[in-house]
Amino acid sequence: MEWETVIGLEIHAQLLTKSKIFSGAPTQFGAEPNTQACAIDLGLPGVLPVLNKDVVFMALKFGLGIQAEINHKSVFARKNYFYPDLPKGYQISQYELPIIGKGYLDVTLDDGSEKRIHITRAHLEEDAGKSLHEDFLDLSGIDLNRAGTPLLEIVSEPELRSAREAVAYLKTVHALVRYLEICDGNMQEGSFRCDANVSVRPRGQSKLGTRTELKNINSFRFVERAINYEIERQIAVLESGGTITQETRLYNPDKNETRPMRSKEEANDYRYFPDPDLLPLIITDEMLKQAQSSMPELPYQKRERFMAQYGLNAYDAGILISSRDLAHYFETVVKETDGQAKLAANWITSELLGALNRNDLEITNCPISASQLAKLVRRIGDNTISGKIAKTVFEALWNEKEDVDAIIEKKGLKQVTDSSAIEKLIDQVMAANPEKVQEYRSGKEKLFGYFVGLLMKESQGKLNPQQLNESLKKKLQA
Ligand code: ADP
Ligand code: MG
Repeated sequence: MEWETVIGLEIHAQLLTKSKIFSGAPTQFGAEPNTQACAIDLGLPGVLPVLNKDVVFMALKFGLGIQAEINHKSVFARKNYFYPDLPKGYQISQYELPIIGKGYLDVTLDDGSEKRIHITRAHLEEDAGKSLHEDFLDLSGIDLNRAGTPLLEIVSEPELRSAREAVAYLKTVHALVRYLEICDGNMQEGSFRCDANVSVRPRGQSKLGTRTELKNINSFRFVERAINYEIERQIAVLESGGTITQETRLYNPDKNETRPMRSKEEANDYRYFPDPDLLPLIITDEMLKQAQSSMPELPYQKRERFMAQYGLNAYDAGILISSRDLAHYFETVVKETDGQAKLAANWITSELLGALNRNDLEITNCPISASQLAKLVRRIGDNTISGKIAKTVFEALWNEKEDVDAIIEKKGLKQVTDSSAIEKLIDQVMAANPEKVQEYRSGKEKLFGYFVGLLMKESQGKLNPQQLNESLKKKLQA
């Protein structure tokens, strides 16, 4: 039997406001436990929530970013459940009428093709507190700092067909919220997290299979692993004649497995009803206009511009726009190299990103400034150094943070372009290897590379490769 995977993601993006969604308490991460929750966040009797207008504005920007239907009227509802980190006994969310309706994002898949993923809705809600189990023997601690932190929950249609597709979609949403500056995207701190709904069905069947919901996934890598584990598990259950139980499962990254956490509740278990303390949220044309006027260039727009303006292919452009900071770095380099965009793009996507990855650094902490990388690209372009030597310079730049020209000078890396010097060296090497020259001349042309190797070794890689090739050919064939 061939199985088809079906995945829908619920993403929670923590909105980048200074204060909470319904109170003035600060949202800063990492404060002492229980120092940032006020009477409203705790739901003490007699308090009234007041909506933070920044969160509305941020949700509107997101809606515009996914070409969504924006609901001019939306309603906050109480979702009732009991949990120690929810002192009010209910979470304020949006249910029947979310602020953002249907929209979509075009996602670039691994093979370079594009797939449109539809977004069902995006709604505003408050976060709960946190239960801490680790530092307390036989007890749980409760930290309510996070209670009332604004979230935008983004729900996709069940249109994703593999773990890789899910990750590609997640990264696209991640880039968008960061471009819009509505979420810092920090997955480790939990400000961008996702629940993955996963099911399988026999290929060709139109009815969806029973799904499980995976929680607690806090990195792109874990999303992929958790989904793949779950797909395998479900197929094994079904193939051995069992059935899938609709439930919430917890992913454990240390063991790379999912375990049942609780049976899946139905919406009517929550007894949703409109929050009587909050008026319906009305979006005026004025508010929409204001959101529109603050929209930045979006990731897909930037990608198209990079392809048109700099002649980049879709793949490179896609990497360079993956974060706004990286795109900005690239454009700074291009500006300072008189438009050697392709060479700049190559150096950034291979050497620079490789080094950043290996050192677990972001472009914002890059030890090489855009100006220095631009200078390196210029020195390749004007033949001061070869592409190969440039890697040595790059390494020195990374470690010593000196000026490119100073490094070239200090290490004596300048390329030899003086043709008489190159010819002299060729003569020496040929004179030292008469039998190889003989073999070459009697037809063993493969030896050309052998000579190039010798000469590059002799010159420590400093001969201009093009000139070397030309002169060497001439002399060997003479
Ligand atoms: P909830 O999880 O709160 O009950 P929904 O029923 O609206 O909410 O579904 C949430 C997510 O689950 C959506 O992203 C949706 O695409 C996805 N989903 C629904 N049914 C399936 C299914 N059979 N297989 C995979 N994903 C599904
Ligand atoms: Mg759900």
